[in-house]
Amino acid sequence: MFPATRMRRTRTTPRMRDLVAETRIDPSKLIMPVFVDENLKNMAPINSMPGIYTYPLEMVGKYLESLETKGIRNILLFGVPAHKDAMGSSAYDPNGGVQKAVKLAKEKTSLTVMTDLCLCEYTDHGHCGIVEKSVINNDRTLDVYDRIALSYAESGSDVIAPSGMMDGQVGSIRKALDQSGFNNTSILAYSAKYSSNLFGPFREAVKSAPGFGDRKTYQMDWRNSREAMREIDLDIKEGADMIMVKPAIFYLDVISEARRRFDLPLAAYSVSGEYSMIKKAILDGYMNENIILEGMTSVFRAGADMLITYFAEWFMENVEQ
Ligand SMILES: [Zn+2]
Repeated sequence: MFPATRMRRTRTTPRMRDLVAETRIDPSKLIMPVFVDENLKNMAPINSMPGIYTYPLEMVGKYLESLETKGIRNILLFGVPAHKDAMGSSAYDPNGGVQKAVKLAKEKTSLTVMTDLCLCEYTDHGHCGIVEKSVINNDRTLDVYDRIALSYAESGSDVIAPSGMMDGQVGSIRKALDQSGFNNTSILAYSAKYSSNLFGPFREAVKSAPGFGDRKTYQMDWRNSREAMREIDLDIKEGADMIMVKPAIFYLDVISEARRRFDLPLAAYSVSGEYSMIKKAILDGYMNENIILEGMTSVFRAGADMLITYFAEWFMENVEQ
């Protein structure tokens, strides 16, 4: 007790504080999201996410090489197709933007390539599944997810990351992959993905705002955390190799509880809205850049093993390793 115990002793110098720091951001645990847009000729800024760009296929190879040079180890690819239809058929086109970008990444870099698997970027209605009479048909959607998963695996994707929140999606994809000999392709399950307002800026990037209704019939209600544990548990039983909570900073309690309950590698996705809020506040001078590190650290402190963040590139450029 005081005065024998003085908590300030281990805070006296920067070195001492580093020595006793409990959390450290390891670059090998960071994943940078990358957008490939088939409609572009040049890289294009995402207005709501200052500093983040979408890339045409012709430029993405160079960009990925530059990321690797900076020390980025892992990427998560998203695509914006030239053609959208009700079935999202561009998503499983073997010559689609994501498929080609995966091949480029594997040829030119040694990045671990993860591919986001969903339909919302590819459907003309902007929903994550097949729509019948204004209702998302879960099980028909799974058949399309399987096709997309196979096309990604055939392109060389290391990790398939289904994000559509359809029931049974992990089991369905695992089976499809295994039946085609892709037993070594991993699945990172977007297990607890909330219907969050923080996704707004992303929808500008991939032009995927739903044309009618919202995503609340498949994405989780943000009032629930026990339900998130059930979602994660089901994905593990269906064969997920890694699990995810998305978004991150508003959901640290969910990350923490998932860490306590489950042994699988746990990812958190710090989404576009988190990026935009922090970035805008910095640009307007309300906060300094250290807020980025505080936010990133909070996710690891909560128990995440890996972090998908738009700040990954910034981190490699600005933080001494
Ligand atoms: Zn989606």
